[in-house]
Amino acid sequence: MPTDEPTATSRRDLLKLIGLTAGSAALYQAMTSLGYAAESGYKGPIKLEGDPKGASVLILGAGLAGMVAALELRQAGYKVKVLEFNNRAGGRNWSLRGGDTYTELGGATQHCRFDAGLYVNPGPWRIPHHHQHLLHYCRELDVKAFGVNAVVMPPGYASGPHYHERQEELYLVHRGEIEFTFGDKDAVVLGPGGLARVDPATVRRVRNTSDSEEAVYLCVGGAGGYVGRDGRTVGEEAPR
Ligand SMILES: Cc1cc2nc3c(=O)[nH]c(=O)nc-3n(C[C@H](O)[C@H](O)[C@H](O)COP(=O)(O)OP(=O)(O)OC[C@H]3O[C@@H](n4cnc5c(N)ncnc54)[C@H](O)[C@@H]3O)c2cc1C
Repeated sequence: MPTDEPTATSRRDLLKLIGLTAGSAALYQAMTSLGYAAESGYKGPIKLEGDPKGASVLILGAGLAGMVAALELRQAGYKVKVLEFNNRAGGRNWSLRGGDTYTELGGATQHCRFDAGLYVNPGPWRIPHHHQHLLHYCRELDVKAFGVNAVVMPPGYASGPHYHERQEELYLVHRGEIEFTFGDKDAVVLGPGGLARVDPATVRRVRNTSDSEEAVYLCVGGAGGYVGRDGRTVGEEAPR
C-alpha cells in the first residue's frame, strides 16, 4: 500500500544503485567522493607518545583495525588485550582451507574439500598500491605478497571494462574458451594453455564464450615485472 512515510536509503543501497545503473567507474568515483575509496593520506608510520604508566587497554575485535591498534599500543607501552567474537583472528581477512566448514547466516553449511595446500580467500584479495599504511605493516611484519587469482567465469559471463593503475597482468586460460579484448584491438579467443599479458593502463574486457560451460583462468599480477636473472647454484655444481 502506498504510504507518505519517508523511507531511509542506506549508503550501501545508494552505492549499489549507482553501480548497477552507471557501472563500476561511476561507483568508484562515488565512493571516492564519499571518502571510501580515496587515496591514503599516509605520511609515514605513526608514533604513539605519552606515558601509559601501566595502563591497560581492551580492544574489541581482532580484524585489521584491532590488530593494528594492539600492535601500536603495545609498542607504546600499554598492556593490551584483544577480545575476538570469532574463534579466529583476521576479521574479514580470512582463508578457507580443505577440511574447513562454514555455516552461513541462512543456515547452509559449506564443506571445503580442497586438496592440501589449496585455499580460497572469501574476503579481500588485493592490497592497492596506495594503501601505504597497510604496506608498512606488511614490511614490518615480513608479510610476503604474491598475487595469483583463479577466476571461475559462469557460462556467458562478461566482465565490465577495467584497467589498473600500476599492476600488469598475465592471464592463463585453464579451462574453456575466453575472449579477451585489449584496448581498441580486435578480440582474441584463447583456449586452455593460452596466455595473454596486458599493461596496467590497457582497458580490458574478458568474456566466457560458452553459454553452457564454466571457464577458468589464472590471473597473475605484478608491478615491475619478472625479478630477472637472480638464480644461484648451491654447492659445487657449475652454473647451467
Ligand atoms: C568480500 C570482501 C572483499 C574485500 N576486498 C578487499 C580488497 O581487495 N582490498 C581491500 O583493501 N579491502 C577489501 N575488503 C575490505 C577489507 O576486508 C576491510 O576493510 C578490512 O578487513 C576491515 O578490517 P576491520 O578490522 O575494520 O574490520 P573486520 O575485518 O570486520 O574486523 C572486525 C572484527 O571485530 C570482531 N567483532 C565485532 N564486534 C565485536 C565485539 N563486540 N566483540 C568482539 N569482537 C567483535 C569481528 O568478529 C571481526 O573479527 C574486502 C572485504 C570483503 C568482505
